[in-house]
Amino acid sequence: MNDATARMRLESMLAELDRSIGVLRGDPLAVWDRSPADGGSVLTDADRNRAMLEAATRQRRSVLEALKRLDEGLYGLCADCGGPVPEGRLEARPEATRCVQCQSRRERRR
Ligand SMILES: [Zn+2]
Repeated sequence: MNDATARMRLESMLAELDRSIGVLRGDPLAVWDRSPADGGSVLTDADRNRAMLEAATRQRRSVLEALKRLDEGLYGLCADCGGPVPEGRLEARPEATRCVQCQSRRERRR
C-alpha cells in the first residue's frame, strides 16, 4: 500500500470516527444513566454507548498517530522497533503503527 492510498484510507476512517463520536456524544442514551428511574435496560444502553465511545476515541487516536507517521515519512515502520510492519497488517488495519510483536508486547503490559 503506498502512502497516498494509506492517507486516503486513514482520512476517511477519521471522518467516519468523528461522525460516530459526534453521534455517540449527542445520543440522549449517554445521559440517561444519571436518572436510572426506569431500571436496568437503560443503564445497559448507556454502558454500551460509553464503551463504543471509548473504542472510537481510542481508534481515532491511532489513526491520528498513523497520519503523523505518514507526515514524518515513517509510515509502515514499527514505532517501537523500527522494523517494517507487514503489508497484510496495514491492509487490515491502516492505523497500525507497530508490528505484531511490539503491539502484543504493549497489550500484555497493560
Ligand atoms: Zn516492532
